[in-house]
Amino acid sequence: MGDPFLRDPALVEQDLIDGAISRDAAKQLYGAVLTGANGTEVDVTATWANRNALRSALVVGAKVALDQLPSETALADVRMASGAWVCAHCNTSLSTNGVGWVEKTESNIRDLATLYEAADTAIRRRNANAVTLVEHYCPTCAVCLKVHVRVESEATPVYHLQG
Ligand SMILES: [Zn+2]
Repeated sequence: MGDPFLRDPALVEQDLIDGAISRDAAKQLYGAVLTGANGTEVDVTATWANRNALRSALVVGAKVALDQLPSETALADVRMASGAWVCAHCNTSLSTNGVGWVEKTESNIRDLATLYEAADTAIRRRNANAVTLVEHYCPTCAVCLKVHVRVESEATPVYHLQG
């Protein structure tokens, strides 16, 4: 799946034209800046600037230039290099012993129902045991490397979404 903020803006625009995603989803999930009479054209320059600004605010201290990353790693997360896990996008070392790289990432927790509502997707809220997304970002380039879905009150993540 990869980080949605690395999706080619032209493909986001095609998804909009095809009706595969809503305008709200394009904005909220893919960081797209929309333009045009029908609001279905993606402003490529403004979209990358918006994505970089949003990620910079989320991963403080990162040098965010998502549009400058090599496109061939868009669907990647981490890789092993000389016995250590490194970010596949910027090669930052995330572990020295081959395990536990998630602990070196910047974590962000989102309420899943709120995210879906912002993307104009119908979802029934649970009264108890809210479902959250636990996102793990590279501390250097701010690419989202992994996402877990966690059910409140359960100790360990139950679903592995990305990465
Ligand atoms: Zn990185």
